[in-house]
Amino acid sequence: MSESFINLKEVVLKNNCPECFNNEGLRLTFQQKIVETKFYRSVTSDVSHILECKVCNSIIYPVQWTDAIERVFEYQQKAIQPKKPSKYLKQASWIAILLFALVIIVITVLAIYPIL
Ligand SMILES: [Zn+2]
Repeated sequence: MSESFINLKEVVLKNNCPECFNNEGLRLTFQQKIVETKFYRSVTSDVSHILECKVCNSIIYPVQWTDAIERVFEYQQKAIQPKKPSKYLKQASWIAILLFALVIIVITVLAIYPIL
């Protein structure tokens, strides 16, 4: 099973970075989690966010956020539109389902018309 993220939105913030105080480096990214296995690919309802500064290359964790950053974050969070959670079966699943159905049919046929 592998997990990946798709970027829903990247916002450039005009706020000062709590680390380097530059006001041009903050990028807020919203991501939605995707789980993928051999049998299916699923878009989860799990939306996460990350705030990084491109100037000092640090990740700004919520404990470091200023009130101004929090206000912008809340505003942006309301504006994002996550993808609808969905699950899509891969070919491997369909083959497994078909084989299973075939076995059931064979068993049924043999039960009705026993080979003597
Ligand atoms: Zn910075």
